[in-house]
Amino acid sequence: MTQPPRVRIAPSPTGDPHVGTAYVGLINYAFARRNGGRFILRIEDTDRERSSAASEAAILDALHWLGLSWDEGPDVGGPCGPYRQSERSEIYREHARILLERGAAYPCFCTPAQLAAIRERQRAAKQNKGYDGTCRRLPPDEARRRMESGEPHTIRLAMPLEGETAFQDHLRGDVSYANDQMDDQVLLKSDGFPTYHLANVVDDHLMGITHVIRAEEWLNSTPKHVVLYRAFGWDPPVFVHLPLLRNADRSKISKRKNPVSLDFYRRVGILPEVLLNFLALLGHSMPDEREVFTLDDFVREFSFERMHLGGPVFDLDKLLWLNGHYVRAMDPRDLARRIRDTVFSIENIEALVPLIRERVDALGEFPEKTWYFTHPKMPVPAQELAGAVQGRAPKEAAKALKAAHEALNEAPSFDAEALEVRMRDLAASLSWKPGDLFMLVRIAATGRKATPPLFDTLVAIGRPAVAQRLRAAVEALGRLKE
Ligand code: GLU
Repeated sequence: MTQPPRVRIAPSPTGDPHVGTAYVGLINYAFARRNGGRFILRIEDTDRERSSAASEAAILDALHWLGLSWDEGPDVGGPCGPYRQSERSEIYREHARILLERGAAYPCFCTPAQLAAIRERQRAAKQNKGYDGTCRRLPPDEARRRMESGEPHTIRLAMPLEGETAFQDHLRGDVSYANDQMDDQVLLKSDGFPTYHLANVVDDHLMGITHVIRAEEWLNSTPKHVVLYRAFGWDPPVFVHLPLLRNADRSKISKRKNPVSLDFYRRVGILPEVLLNFLALLGHSMPDEREVFTLDDFVREFSFERMHLGGPVFDLDKLLWLNGHYVRAMDPRDLARRIRDTVFSIENIEALVPLIRERVDALGEFPEKTWYFTHPKMPVPAQELAGAVQGRAPKEAAKALKAAHEALNEAPSFDAEALEVRMRDLAASLSWKPGDLFMLVRIAATGRKATPPLFDTLVAIGRPAVAQRLRAAVEALGRLKE
């Protein structure tokens, strides 16, 4: 390698910190450290509606917990800042102007209604979806006049109309895409803010990124990025698309089937070094096939040559096994301290005290009253669920729980009041008595019929664990004989 590599992770702060971010972060980190390079954290908050400061803080906190430290980023600064895209708007507008001048991009005046009509026509004619190029065909003076008069518009990338865009993926070799299959992507929205594609390419270039190491799901975006690099006259970086993590059924890992939030693993007492060890086993093998190793060992041995693409499965049981292995190997005093600092931390206990003090006389009852709040894989109370609501067959209960799972998973915020409103609405739409639905959810989420107030309890357990338990309950009910 001629120059030390510069790599980055670029999470979007639009939700809970995701295991995928930790995975991609680990590989970037290992590559940078192995080769004496720099590891950069950039926040891609171009989606103004979905991004939040709370999500950004949670992502940084989770990455710190894992110990994946970065050399440049929004919190530590660096020579290529700012590292938060919302603070770089003028840079993107300037670059969009360059593309317009070169004819590599064009203004699009189509309104949302016109775009919907285009999609509808394409659907009826069974054509490929994508922008049909209406504004690309406007005479240049007309386009300029309309822009100057302040007519709302986006800026679109003028993709080549024929031929192919080819590039090398470091793990996959030559990859190429037919240009006529690719949309004229919006680069700048009508509010003047960039989309992912423009901001990502401009920043990777200006931040001197030498290797873009990211998840496989971005592979289809890469030809558009390559076209952008060429339009700017820049050399593209090396692209490495990592294999996608998968659920047990081999579908792309998702919160519908697996806990994906790093907060879940932290809360149930998975040790951060174990999560890293576990992620390092997904898609990469050590020279001696060792399964237990430290982050430093991984960095020492890391190589893309040791990576394989066969969709690694994120298996919670294997993670628990590995954690157990570490727990048993640890010095007892260290282990005691780790338990005190995590599951029995003062913050955790303070969060539970208001919920259970009504139910505890001697303090020694505390563990028994609270075990289900942090259990990583609570046994499914199948029989209790089946008999939970008189007059409702297991199948019906499964259907209601499935709907509850979806409603809780999609709730914009996971607070007690909002959850109660959602569950009452759901009960009404299913024609269930609210109390019956609440009982079913209570048993599924806690394994017991009597708990502290339900919605406060769900909040204390946390969304990812509640979702996981409700999903397990739906499956268990489905397996029961009627
Ligand atoms: N913001 C994208 C994400 O959330 C970054 C993708 C990339 O690394 O280019 O994953």
